[in-house]
Amino acid sequence: MSDRITHIETRLFQVPLPEVLVDAKHGAHSHFELITVTITLASGFEGTGYTYTGGKGGRAIYSVIEYDIKPELLGQNGCDVEAIYDWLEWHTHYVGRGGIASFANSAVDIALWDIRCKMSDSPLWKMVGGTAKQCKAYRGGIDLNYSKEKLVKRVQTYLDAGFNGVKIKVGKEKLEEDVERVAAVRERIGPDITFMVDANYSMSVTQAITAAESFKPYDILWFEEPTIPDDYQGYAQIAKTTNMALAMGENLHTLHEFGYAFEQAHLSFIQPDASNCGGISGWLKVAEMARAYGVSVCTHGMQELHVNLLSAQPNSGWLEVHSFPIDQYTTRPLVLDQHMAVVSDDSGIGVAFEWAKLEPYVVSL
Ligand SMILES: [Mg+2]
Repeated sequence: MSDRITHIETRLFQVPLPEVLVDAKHGAHSHFELITVTITLASGFEGTGYTYTGGKGGRAIYSVIEYDIKPELLGQNGCDVEAIYDWLEWHTHYVGRGGIASFANSAVDIALWDIRCKMSDSPLWKMVGGTAKQCKAYRGGIDLNYSKEKLVKRVQTYLDAGFNGVKIKVGKEKLEEDVERVAAVRERIGPDITFMVDANYSMSVTQAITAAESFKPYDILWFEEPTIPDDYQGYAQIAKTTNMALAMGENLHTLHEFGYAFEQAHLSFIQPDASNCGGISGWLKVAEMARAYGVSVCTHGMQELHVNLLSAQPNSGWLEVHSFPIDQYTTRPLVLDQHMAVVSDDSGIGVAFEWAKLEPYVVSL
């Protein structure tokens, strides 16, 4: 089937956050960036894909799509998602491998999947496996700057909203502070709520081993990004020394990086983000690798889209419900039912933006 791409529109939005959010390594977040790509085919079918950042790099991603991808993507067969995925992987590889290009490529791939689903009049979860219509979900906070009291209060709001899993940031200057915060949260949530911690790769391997041992009494499901994502052997050392389950993936952007992680890092959970690992095509490849390695596939960010991917997987783990509320700018904010996140049955990727809500935040380029 052939249907040429006739129109591509790229947009950049800088969306303010209700409060400044801080983690151990990325500093303060006052807003997030949303980069959308709307692709139209000759037949009139149209799809929108997107990616996001923590506030930096949006203009570069916009420029790669607008000036490097768009001129050569126009005229290609929009039905051949796999061929375009492959072409994108190499198109800006020399200057952008694993970096800005991964975000740009992801947005384009997601737009093409939106079209593919709409052409088949199918929701995404059905197109990509259709195993189930719901998945486990936890609320992750970017909360390292909160006082212990505020942190505990905030975590309570997650439980009140229907979550039975929560994650907090660690990586304070003194480990004792982290341990106090972890202890306070565990005391508040009780023994039955699933609890994870995330250091945003702020620790050395030695520090992470000490931290993992200190967190053990508090029944932590996983210790996320204890050290820099490139140090696969370091991850293995932390996991083997402490027996603590480790998770990472938001900073792995190429399939090769995921391959090294599966081979070497001794992970228990992998957290690919379709907005930066090659879109839906890339995310599905990582999920397949995870199955082969017996690792539970989870997600990072963009819960409104990932719910439709994760639920469809036989080895699905936990959906992260992130602090960047992208879903508040869509027609369908995330739906929870009995603690579980529920897929969209709409035709397409299940994410349609409320453009009028985003309009005030558009960046003119
Ligand atoms: Mg994280």
